[in-house]
Amino acid sequence: MKKALITGIRGQDGAYLARFLIDKGYKVYGADRRSGDSSLWRMKELGIEDRVEHIYMDLLEYINIIDVIKNIKPDEVYNLAAQSFVQASFDQPLLTADIDAVGVLRILEAIRYFSPKTKFYQASTSEMFGKVQSIPQNEKTPFYPRSPYAVSKLFAHWMVVNYRESYNIFGCCGILFNHESPLRGLEFITRKTTDNIARIKYGLKEKLVVGNLDSKRDWGYAKEYVEGMWLMLQQKNPDDYVLATGETHTIRELIEYAFNYIGIKIAWKGKGLDEKGIDKKSGKVLVEVSKKYYRPAEVDLLLGDPSKAKKNLGWKPETKFKKLIEIMMEADLKRVGEEIK
Ligand code: NAP
Repeated sequence: MKKALITGIRGQDGAYLARFLIDKGYKVYGADRRSGDSSLWRMKELGIEDRVEHIYMDLLEYINIIDVIKNIKPDEVYNLAAQSFVQASFDQPLLTADIDAVGVLRILEAIRYFSPKTKFYQASTSEMFGKVQSIPQNEKTPFYPRSPYAVSKLFAHWMVVNYRESYNIFGCCGILFNHESPLRGLEFITRKTTDNIARIKYGLKEKLVVGNLDSKRDWGYAKEYVEGMWLMLQQKNPDDYVLATGETHTIRELIEYAFNYIGIKIAWKGKGLDEKGIDKKSGKVLVEVSKKYYRPAEVDLLLGDPSKAKKNLGWKPETKFKKLIEIMMEADLKRVGEEIK
């Protein structure tokens, strides 16, 4: 039985990947940092909370990481743990760097010294392209990170490349574009939108307040992206891959699609911070813009080119943007409906 260690097991991708690997017959160790029982909800939704062996491992604790790697000697480590919210990284740049940059180096060092045959997956991100240098972005596109989160992830990314080239560590970076699901955290714009709209529908909320409506993102379905992570570690040689859909949409479109799901058509009026989304039928203001949700340095457009993953890994995203929003709306309407029963 192959042994996999997943860090960030309580996060969106951690839960989907654990489910995927358990179905493949892996023994899955879930590394988390003791953040209370409530955050096991994702694993509970996927019915695997008792099928993962939980161990405590914080990316800030080097000896803790050494102990875990030395004792388990996993065949594969998937490093999904991170302070993953871009906006929070502007408020907590040091903590973000310690977890997202140096934390990865701690794991690499532990693997190098105590389990050099362990294969390593690093969760890199399209945010590393930031102020994009070409469109679409692929593995050869130069990086231009625009947040402490993206800069930290870039450090980690190059460390994996460096450990691969210097010490022959089987390390792969998945440069993943945004991927969403009903298991996405509520702070992220997609899930915030679908949750808020479900609450508006049930009369629990008046309006949705967002930042830059014109930001464009390449949004895929998280459940499909975890297979790409696994495929990277099954190849003969380690390498880095972009996982994306090759389609980009604005936040404005996301909001329109999500309202459409509950039968509301949105008309936009005004400009910039004064822009409002209005229910065409009732004339009620349902969307407002706030400076609070703008980043100090914006990332305007992300659009990935997943050709290399398609060619080498045989990986391909199936779920289109509109379908993804429908899946998320359906789940949030059900959740909020049950909450008020
Ligand atoms: P997520 O839901 O925010 O999960 C991240 C997990 O990391 C959380 O469970 C968190 O634990 C854990 N964590 C944070 N600090 C830690 C520490 N010091 N030690 C151990 N664990 C720690 O993120 P996700 O959406 O699943 O994404 C997975 C990874 O992919 C992240 O590294 C993210 O940056 C990267 N990524 C995500 C996307 C995307 O669109 N989702 C795109 C590109 C890259 P708690 O539950 O205790 O807070």
